Amino acid sequence: MKKKEFKAESKKLLNMMINSIYTNKEIFLRELISNASDAIDKLDYMALTNGDLKVNKDEYKIKIEIDKENRTLKIIDNGIGMTDSELESNLGTIAKSGSELFKEENSKEKNLEIIGQFGVGFYSSFMVSKKVTVLSKSINSNKAYIWESDGVEGFTITESEKDTNGSEITLYLKDNTEENNYDEFLENYTIERIVKKYSDYIKYPIQMEVEIEDKDKKKIKEEKTLNSMVPIWKKKRTEVKDEEYNDFYADKFYDYEKPLKVIKTEVEGLTSYQALMFIPSHAPYNYYTKEYEKGLMLYSKGVMIMEKCSDLLPDYFSFVKGIVDSLDISLNISRETMQEDRQVQLIAKSLETKIKKELENMLNNDFASYQKFYEAFGEQLKYGIYSSYGMNKELLQDLLLFYSSKEDKFITLKEYVSRIDGDNIYYASGESIDKIKMLPNVENAISKGKEVLLLTNYLDEFVIKTIGTYQEKSFMNVLDANFDLSSEEEKEALKKVNEENKEMLSLMKTVLDTNVKDIRFTNRLKNHPVCLITEGDVSLEMEKVLNSMPNGENVKANKILEINEDHPISEKLKELYRNNDQENLEKYTKVLYGQARLIEGLSVENPTEITNLICEIMSK
Ligand code: ADP
Repeated sequence: MKKKEFKAESKKLLNMMINSIYTNKEIFLRELISNASDAIDKLDYMALTNGDLKVNKDEYKIKIEIDKENRTLKIIDNGIGMTDSELESNLGTIAKSGSELFKEENSKEKNLEIIGQFGVGFYSSFMVSKKVTVLSKSINSNKAYIWESDGVEGFTITESEKDTNGSEITLYLKDNTEENNYDEFLENYTIERIVKKYSDYIKYPIQMEVEIEDKDKKKIKEEKTLNSMVPIWKKKRTEVKDEEYNDFYADKFYDYEKPLKVIKTEVEGLTSYQALMFIPSHAPYNYYTKEYEKGLMLYSKGVMIMEKCSDLLPDYFSFVKGIVDSLDISLNISRETMQEDRQVQLIAKSLETKIKKELENMLNNDFASYQKFYEAFGEQLKYGIYSSYGMNKELLQDLLLFYSSKEDKFITLKEYVSRIDGDNIYYASGESIDKIKMLPNVENAISKGKEVLLLTNYLDEFVIKTIGTYQEKSFMNVLDANFDLSSEEEKEALKKVNEENKEMLSLMKTVLDTNVKDIRFTNRLKNHPVCLITEGDVSLEMEKVLNSMPNGENVKANKILEINEDHPISEKLKELYRNNDQENLEKYTKVLYGQARLIEGLSVENPTEITNLICEIMSK
């Protein structure tokens, strides 16, 4: 006999779970039935891939036995079973990798998610039991073992006797208290109700002995199958309640928030399959990390052959969860052969089209939900365009949303283009909507009646560059040197001003050296004294993003310092120049450049010098 203690974190987690997390105690049965069903799945899969193993499929079943006298409840399966070492590793450490995470995250919501992800399903049995035993015999062994635990300190594993493969879980129910009546789990109708509610779609019969009256009103006992056994994804959409889909989603994908959208699809033809997919309402905590694994569950001929088949989903739709069941997939398919498999490719293509259509539907008919979706996964769509160098742009660009200065809400590119006559889609990027709106050039463009897309996500501008043109309209940054809404006369007049002050401007340029490409007067700043614009491919925002990347090269945007020709500061500069006051002209130039950087959200390279200069000028 082996006696083992639970690991420290396991104990903590166990205690927390039993006593606080699941207020809904009845779900223990769902967890145990789901384990039993998995165990039969595993055996079935083994039999399919190993010709020497003889099993009788018709006998697969899960049995529930109630013993009122001894207050025990048994869940029995004839699945794959466990060896002693499997009993130890599978039931000995709770939340194997989850316990580390648990130490860091202490919110209840996060814990729920973690518990789900790392599977402590079996331990939920301790919510209703003071003791649990698992008698199990593995298909690979002729010895049986019994695991026993009170769910507090530890467990023991002892050699035992069992004729056939499979597991028999015995729950010794807790004593009744004032708040909790555990006896209810000894009633046939309670068990029947719980099975129907959570486990109806389990594809093996879940049987229980019930008492019925025969023709002569004599009571006889009979094995009754409690579940309908039709997998939920094979049922017609009209036959399934939303709540059932949601329960199924929570159970299979460990997400306790309702999905935003349920996608049910059935295809017959070149390739036939049924799929049930879900769009989550929030990104899993590890979604934007390397740890996240995309994929759909893959079933073939009713057998689960892969938990997460990644080849069924493109990266840009990696947030989709679900199940695909197809008769056309070989049971012997492996991760390696998956990629070349024609059927898998066909199914993946067809799913992609379906997912896109559903997202478009949501966008057009339920914008509030779409916006929620976009907040969670919009970045993934953008990344899909950017990382493919635009190859996926046709597919994804109409799913993107950008904030419109005109509407003060998110809109699509299609909407933008439908409203304009010109050749350009105007945009500006920055840290926040408010900050962008305050940029002098943006203010100017808006005041001249232009609709400007205000981009706040670090990927936005890169995505726009990748898209290049949309419906023959080009994107134009209003902070770009080419952006100019002035009339021919205004342009001429400005040219003259710059020509007249050429020498002064060139002197100022010497002060700023390579920091700027040019200094000039402008006529589009209304009341603002200065601004920075750029010339060429790299904008100011892109400079910020690129330079903040680890190992990023030091990228510099070609900056042009523009000074408002109508602002009193222009006169002041000219006066200093006329008076040959080179010293002050230099100081003013430095301060103006520093201010322009601040306006654009860039840091000032020499803050002490600049603030000292400002104070010096102020005290004059
Ligand atoms: P999960 O099912 O989420 O992995 P559980 O705590 O419910 O987490 O179960 C842990 C593991 O114990 C399972 O992954 C499985 O390998 C094993 N197990 C549980 N119940 C059974 C069973 N009835 N038959 C065979 N193996 C089982």
